[in-house]
Amino acid sequence: MTGPLCGECGRPLGDGVTLCKECVGNLIEQLADVPALLAELAIVRAGLARSGPRSSGAGRPAEPPLPVRLDGRDRRAGERVVLRLETAVIGWARALAEDLHVCPAVGTAYLVDLTQERRLAFRADRRPDAAALAEPATPVEQCAIWLTRHRREIARHEAAPELAREVAAAVRGLRRAVAPPPREYLGLCPRKDDAGQPCGHELWAEDRAVQTVCRRCGAPYVVAELKSAALTGAEDRHYSVADLLRLLTELGHPVPRSTLYRWAQQRRIAPRGWQHTDERGTRITDHQISPEDRQVYRLGDALAVARKEGAEAV
Ligand SMILES: [Zn+2]
Ligand SMILES: [Zn+2]
Repeated sequence: MTGPLCGECGRPLGDGVTLCKECVGNLIEQLADVPALLAELAIVRAGLARSGPRSSGAGRPAEPPLPVRLDGRDRRAGERVVLRLETAVIGWARALAEDLHVCPAVGTAYLVDLTQERRLAFRADRRPDAAALAEPATPVEQCAIWLTRHRREIARHEAAPELAREVAAAVRGLRRAVAPPPREYLGLCPRKDDAGQPCGHELWAEDRAVQTVCRRCGAPYVVAELKSAALTGAEDRHYSVADLLRLLTELGHPVPRSTLYRWAQQRRIAPRGWQHTDERGTRITDHQISPEDRQVYRLGDALAVARKEGAEAV
């Protein structure tokens, strides 16, 4: 005879609970991450506000973009995500508190401290932003942390599976807003209008997508064709060693970093200028402006050596 099963994962349930220990554990982890995720989202949004269009400075403009990965961020999607999170987390904190005949202790020093502490649980590769940490703890963060303190009560709540599903979906949305799945930039839409003007809208493709559509004019594209078109003409452009490594790999001629540096040292590929980055953006200059500037090489030069070496190696 089998007893009741967990509504989330189908594992057998203990006495008097509606959600198994593992599922409650997952739920608590998700809730505990809410303050740090919201702090990260604030940083992502702040960065988005700062990164307006840059005026081009002296010297030649930076090289046109190539099909490499860039993150796209959508401010309005971020707002929807927060709203959904608030509905789920605050709603369920209220429902549970009502059943327990208590009030979620929002605003108490104890809960505020716990919440601030959880904001520090940043991803290891990100530095916490002092300004974001100094913001007052919001009700949704505090409700999330309040819920994490009621593990047992949640497990016994009749609607616990529903609570778990709603919170998981909301936190998933939040994670995606903080670090969206990779999208690929494929250059500007080349389709011409009746007057012969190119559409010029940015073309993006979801990771591993075969096709994409221009969001402005609706022109459909095959991703692979856009990529090869973007690489045509790239041979005459100049790139740093780091960019060359990636491009040579994309073009089917992967070369180890040490080999590429050796070619540069032996002048088998000649430097064509410097890549300089400042507050105006990145551009190629014919002289070194700052010590951080990297020398750039013509992609075609590197490709020719790579092809030659490849032919000799065969
Ligand atoms: Zn379960
Ligand atoms: Zn278009």
